[in-house]
Amino acid sequence: MAKKEFRNNYIESVTKSLGDVLRWQLQRIRDGLPPKPRLPTPQVTADLDFIRRNALAGPMTPAVTWIGHATMLVQASGLTVLTDPIFSTRASPVQFLGPARAQRPGIALEDLPHIDVVAISHNHYDHLDRASVRVLANQPGGAPLFLVPLGVKSWLNELGITHTVELDWWEAHVHAGADRRPVEFLLTPAQHWSGRSLSDRNKTLWGGWAVLGADFHWYFTGDTGYSKDFKDVRERLAARHTPEQGGGFDIALIAVGACLPRWFMKDQHVDLAEAVQIHLDLGAKRSVGVHWGTFALADDPIDQPLHDLAAARSDKGVAEAAFFLLPVGGTRQLPRREEK
Ligand code: ZN
Ligand code: ZN
Repeated sequence: MAKKEFRNNYIESVTKSLGDVLRWQLQRIRDGLPPKPRLPTPQVTADLDFIRRNALAGPMTPAVTWIGHATMLVQASGLTVLTDPIFSTRASPVQFLGPARAQRPGIALEDLPHIDVVAISHNHYDHLDRASVRVLANQPGGAPLFLVPLGVKSWLNELGITHTVELDWWEAHVHAGADRRPVEFLLTPAQHWSGRSLSDRNKTLWGGWAVLGADFHWYFTGDTGYSKDFKDVRERLAARHTPEQGGGFDIALIAVGACLPRWFMKDQHVDLAEAVQIHLDLGAKRSVGVHWGTFALADDPIDQPLHDLAAARSDKGVAEAAFFLLPVGGTRQLPRREEK
């Protein structure tokens, strides 16, 4: 029996016909897209001293460090977490073909602090990279816990990676931080799809992660089109995000980029205006754009968010500090949430 296919909440399907795929590819070649970026992706030398010190036992300063694409090192509530790790040169099944990264990762794999948890949003090549997860699973001091959506566990198991938990939407896994206080990882819906070949489309689940620790709440959308799913996330967590409990997410990592042409990408990848709307729908205190500046995956140049963000923010009355972009290798330290 064919394995079941997973579906989105608010759209029949994001799958494009073969005709549409060909139409996009032909237009792309005809028009020479994507254009070259006008600006290089900003990059700074990572503050490894701070990051490593912060990973050790003791009170952890909440901090996010952008490694590139959707790979973010999030340190909070006693856990060092990596989202969708890709350190490889190409986001592709093979390393001689496919989208190549525009610059080195902000932190080299061998320079990472000990990773406690790897949170995977879905199995696309630019989010689930075989070489990267293999190295991470063999890090000194023991493998991190790999948290994945339904169906991805067996793929990891086949690589010999067994320290894994797979979840359905709205299921949670509780992991203790260094201070032994529990941190809850909740898989949340997003509007996207999955697949690594022609035959496994939507056979594994996709989603975002809400991560709730005692002193910090963060969120990662994973890849997504704009949908009501983000209002649903806010509603689900409303009882835990009251002002008395410190309010909404302290930061949301929102996937931007790879959004053109709109007729092809709109259902599966948001543009900047929609990303800012997701920030508002979630009720996040602040958001940072990820999934840009690294791999040319669609018709927009990889630096497009740098040019679009200011207008997207001001159109919706969002303050500059409330939705920002980091340079590759850049760290943003953030305040702990305070219960009143
Ligand atoms: Zn994807
Ligand atoms: Zn992606």
